[in-house]
Amino acid sequence: MTNSNPESPNAPIQDARTPSNFLRDQIAEDVRTKKYGDAVVQTRFPPEPNGYLHIGHAKAICIDFGLADEFGGKTNLRFDDTNPEKEEQEYVDSIMADVRWLGFQWDRLCYASDYFPQLYDWAIKLIQDGKAYVDDLSADVIRQHRGTLTEPGKDSPFRNRSVEENLDLFIRMKQGEFPDGSRVLRAKIDMASPNLNMRDPVMYRILHATHQRTGDAWCIYPMYDFAHGQSDSLERVTHSMCTLEFTDHQPLYRWYIEQLGIFPTQQIEFDRLNLTYTLLSKRKLLQLVSEKRVSAWDDPRMPTLCGIRRRGFTPEALRAFCAAIGATRTNGSTDIEMLEHFQRDDLNRRASRAMAVLHPLKLVIDNYPTGQEEFVEVANNPEDPSAGTRQVPFSGEIFIEQDDFREIPPPKYYRLSPGKEVRLRNAYFVTAQSVVKDSAGNIVEVHCTYDPASRGGNSPDGRKVKSTIHWVSIAHAISAEIRLYNRLFTKANPSDVEEGQDVLSNLNPNSVEILTGAKLEPSLANAKLVDRFQFERVGYFCLDPDSAPANLVFNRTLPLKDSWARIEKKSGA
Ligand code: ATP
Ligand code: MG
Repeated sequence: MTNSNPESPNAPIQDARTPSNFLRDQIAEDVRTKKYGDAVVQTRFPPEPNGYLHIGHAKAICIDFGLADEFGGKTNLRFDDTNPEKEEQEYVDSIMADVRWLGFQWDRLCYASDYFPQLYDWAIKLIQDGKAYVDDLSADVIRQHRGTLTEPGKDSPFRNRSVEENLDLFIRMKQGEFPDGSRVLRAKIDMASPNLNMRDPVMYRILHATHQRTGDAWCIYPMYDFAHGQSDSLERVTHSMCTLEFTDHQPLYRWYIEQLGIFPTQQIEFDRLNLTYTLLSKRKLLQLVSEKRVSAWDDPRMPTLCGIRRRGFTPEALRAFCAAIGATRTNGSTDIEMLEHFQRDDLNRRASRAMAVLHPLKLVIDNYPTGQEEFVEVANNPEDPSAGTRQVPFSGEIFIEQDDFREIPPPKYYRLSPGKEVRLRNAYFVTAQSVVKDSAGNIVEVHCTYDPASRGGNSPDGRKVKSTIHWVSIAHAISAEIRLYNRLFTKANPSDVEEGQDVLSNLNPNSVEILTGAKLEPSLANAKLVDRFQFERVGYFCLDPDSAPANLVFNRTLPLKDSWARIEKKSGA
């Protein structure tokens, strides 16, 4: 959405579907009062490349890019790459791919590491101004001296080093004279501040590690808190939106900006997305990958953007979901069902319909001419006439779902059972006559008769049937592997664990179920990775990249809501 309002070029065009939120209100106010003069609204999305993006990041991306767009502004993608031990190019590449997939294009591609020389010069300036000092205390002792919310911190014995000594030590830190962890550079602010972040925070640490972009050029690295605010400032970010845990860091970022006299970015915090049954933390997701609890970052059970993409989720649904949840100033938890609702809604409108039988049962139509086949015309998407129709082959031997036949039907079971008539979707009415069982008593075949006059799915005499079932012609069917996914965690809050346990103890042992004998209508042989399907009456599916022409694999994105399952549950069956 770009601004094209001639009356007020910087006013947002409010999308009627987008509820207002305080972030938009604040930006609108700043634009109105010309807080940044005529500068356009500038935002950024600042991931640390230490893992793959997840659904929580989608929310931040939609806020950062979405709000800038609304105001005709710009958004940078900035990698906060200050921690070489945890960061990798693989993550950088995946993050760029995921942002594009969500449908956003950044203005400038930036890296905090590009600012290392500038940040170093600013550290020197703070030392020269008596605002920073080199501390020889160990990290542990610094932590102990920090105090608590009720007790002030304790000054380091090195706090009052001279400017000359600090400069000398800091330069030698940079030159690599000292081992890791032996010294840090700290801001000299206030060890008694009620805000712990202001108690002489560490600005630089010694780390002889190779950085994925700067190689071995540096053996001191700025802390995130010394890099983030100034990076925003350097990029002239007007509105730096981040999650609530950074609220207490804001005074520190402002302090640096004021001491250095640089561009005053406005930080605004919003609530972190938490989803039930879902972990949204790169660190914990990494644990699932490295301990092989899932196949990879893009395992379709993962809440990563690449995982849900492989599962069949769409950027349109994610963006609609993010617009609906908006932003607030208090952390809460959102039901995963809400995301699923937006996904179903999108797929219902766009997915091509197809017939697939997951648990096949052979059905023989005894009065259908032997050897005959015919084609029935089927709408590709009843919600979208422009999706056209296709020809689906039909014959006297078809597969139906095992669940769609009961020899002894329970009450309210309207599907096929002996003597009952049902509609084969888009084809004919059939009435079950008899069954064939194997030696163990399992039903292996159902025999039916059909009414040739009901072609297309309606009988000329206006006879009604209570149920329509789907089918696949045996002679034309293709086989596929089907992967059914369930929740990865059994608890709404996966982090709710017994003492001494970790989140892994809440993993759902049945989060994936693999079916190998599914039978599909032949058009699905041409499925592409980008295609989305509704397997009629079964759920939403997409092709998995593990597929090969002779070995198709489909992932279930989401089941349809199953009214029978609900009835069965209610009746306690
Ligand atoms: P994680 O704990 O998963 O690593 P993070 O906050 O450390 O998350 P960053 O790479 O620093 O991850 O995040 C980039 C941006 O995404 C930040 O502005 C952060 O606030 C935002 N973000 C991360 N997780 C969420 C979430 N669950 N909901 C909303 N925004 C989020
Ligand atoms: Mg982080």
